[in-house]
Amino acid sequence: MSLEATSVPTVATEPFINRRDPALALGPDGRPAMSRRAPKWADVPDEKWNDWRWQLSNRVNELADVAEILNLTEEERDGLSAPDKFRVDITPYFISLIDPDDPNDPIRRQVIPLGREAQAFTAMMEDSLAEDRHSPVPGLVHRYPDRVLMLVTTQCASYCRYCTRSRIVGDPTQNFNRAEHEAQLDYLRRTPQVRDVLISGGDGLTLAPKLLEQIIRGLREIPHIEIIRIGSRVPVFLPQRVDDELCEMLGKYHPVWMNLHFNHANEITPEVARAVDKLTRAGIPVGNQSVLLAGVNDCVNIQRQLVHKLVEMRVRPYYIYQCDLVEGSGHFRTPVGKGLEIMEGLRGHTSGYAVPTYVIDAPGGGGKIPVMPNYLISYSDHKVVLRNYEGYITTYEEPTDYKAHDKTTCDACLHARKEPGQSGVLGLLEGERMWIEPTGFSEVHARGNDQPHRLQQPGKWTPYGVGPIEGKARETLPVLPAEFGPGEEPRPLDGEPTASAHGELL
Ligand SMILES: *Cc1c(COP(=O)(O)O)cnc(C)c1O
Ligand code: SF4
Repeated sequence: MSLEATSVPTVATEPFINRRDPALALGPDGRPAMSRRAPKWADVPDEKWNDWRWQLSNRVNELADVAEILNLTEEERDGLSAPDKFRVDITPYFISLIDPDDPNDPIRRQVIPLGREAQAFTAMMEDSLAEDRHSPVPGLVHRYPDRVLMLVTTQCASYCRYCTRSRIVGDPTQNFNRAEHEAQLDYLRRTPQVRDVLISGGDGLTLAPKLLEQIIRGLREIPHIEIIRIGSRVPVFLPQRVDDELCEMLGKYHPVWMNLHFNHANEITPEVARAVDKLTRAGIPVGNQSVLLAGVNDCVNIQRQLVHKLVEMRVRPYYIYQCDLVEGSGHFRTPVGKGLEIMEGLRGHTSGYAVPTYVIDAPGGGGKIPVMPNYLISYSDHKVVLRNYEGYITTYEEPTDYKAHDKTTCDACLHARKEPGQSGVLGLLEGERMWIEPTGFSEVHARGNDQPHRLQQPGKWTPYGVGPIEGKARETLPVLPAEFGPGEEPRPLDGEPTASAHGELL
């Protein structure tokens, strides 16, 4: 027999069914697999169950309704009956994924409140990322030089107990209306340095489809906006919402990127895999942001299962966030060492694609700060000492004849985009200045808030004893209050941390 006769025909003639693709998983009846449905809804016809509007209007929020589905503990009963708790609302699809008899079920812990939620903790804040102070118009957080966070709604498909934006999320009275969307778009039209807009909330995918499209179209009509991103947990809580119509709409406004929010592998179901498949087929690169949560995913192996399931769906783990210092999240918080341990257990141990960046979103609003285990052990003239994931130590020799890049002839340098007041550490490296002084926020006022940015205190950022600095004569530096002697650090205002006084943070 020839080679063609034995090996090629099997490939060519038999249709290949890809059993590895989670979007093609079949159930025991040979039809597309479905996840478990709580007995309460056993008789709901599939057309209704699969209709996102039915799922939204049949959400569970009252103690009595939850008790029909889950065997509640005393502490959960306390949580559910607390009078001014953060909103509870859970889609029938999502609550059905919970094991009714396991009080530690990782999905359950994310959506069912505990009495402990009301407990305050040290450093707890209402708006821990100071988003309201960085909002030039309501709902638009402009913190970074080239990108903004655009909050378009306060509504979500279900509500996470640890929500970082619980000060507004879930509250219909604080929702953003069309006049506010228009004011947000108007700010963006006037702000050409913004090239990346992140639509979030709440959850933009809970908006009426027409309204969502109006907003996205409004953004796409602004010529300087290069990419549009959507941060959404709808595909997790309500995968039924990701229908062909939505994907077709989003596909018209490319480049559109999306970040989802999975925290545990139990959230990845056949329904989710099919929803994510639709998004990726619409050409949307999909990422994931998870939050490190005690009792949910504070484990290297749980995180590894999660990231493996994500990359199987072609979702790229993007960030893993340290839990914010927000009201209601005290019992979810972990030490930072836990996050570092997880990163040690991922980098090198699994595909680079499966490794997110671990970040702390800076309390007070400094943006995301990566937290990394140390791989660079030391560095001296022409030699870098490194260690790998196993602890193996190696060195890298640097070139001795590197000719510095010539900025004066480089087209990209000559036409570099300006970052007024935010050149940051690069500015220090380039010798342009000797200290960092955040600027550019003084015009920023939030709703009813006429305070300048909290770091906008020139005295805090003026170094002593450095003599005249090129381009900025000593005399032009802000005059410091007389009570500070030479060499003495300016004191922070009451309770305010400053970069020059990090000892005080500790
Ligand atoms: C997270 C965030 C962004 C986006 O940050 P990336 O690191 O680019 O993903 C932008 N603006 C605000 C206010 C944010 O919180
Ligand atoms: S989906 Fe996001 S915005 Fe909505 S409750 Fe959860 S964390 Fe908050």
